[in-house]
Amino acid sequence: MADCIFCKIASKEIPSKLVYEDDYMMAFHDIEPQAPTHVVIIPKEHIGSLDDLSNEHKNLIGHIFLSIKDIAKALDLREGYRVVSNCGELGGQTVGHIHFHLLGGRQLQWPPG
Ligand code: AMP
Ligand code: ZN
Repeated sequence: MADCIFCKIASKEIPSKLVYEDDYMMAFHDIEPQAPTHVVIIPKEHIGSLDDLSNEHKNLIGHIFLSIKDIAKALDLREGYRVVSNCGELGGQTVGHIHFHLLGGRQLQWPPG
């Protein structure tokens, strides 16, 4: 998508601090980290948000979640971590390309603000 910052990261038009990449997804360090480890995980395909998922995305989302587990292990988050996807305005979504935050390295509070 032309004006999508995460599509531009996926195409390498905008550089990122890459953690993991394959044909379907990318993981990179968040530019404004909210925890000692804060990685953003995106599909390379443009999908707006969780609300835009359909049956055709089942394999993709399954692949992303299994990869997140491996990324957490590679980043040594053995004491625990959180995976979050903000959806829509009240959910706090600011980038309109579905993504998953992987947060760890400190005690995370619940409920979030
Ligand atoms: P959200 O607010 O849930 O939509 O998450 C968007 C996240 O993307 C925020 O945590 C931003 O800090 C992060 N972000 C925005 N632009 C970039 C970028 N160029 N590189 C890395 N992270 C970014
Ligand atoms: Zn996009």
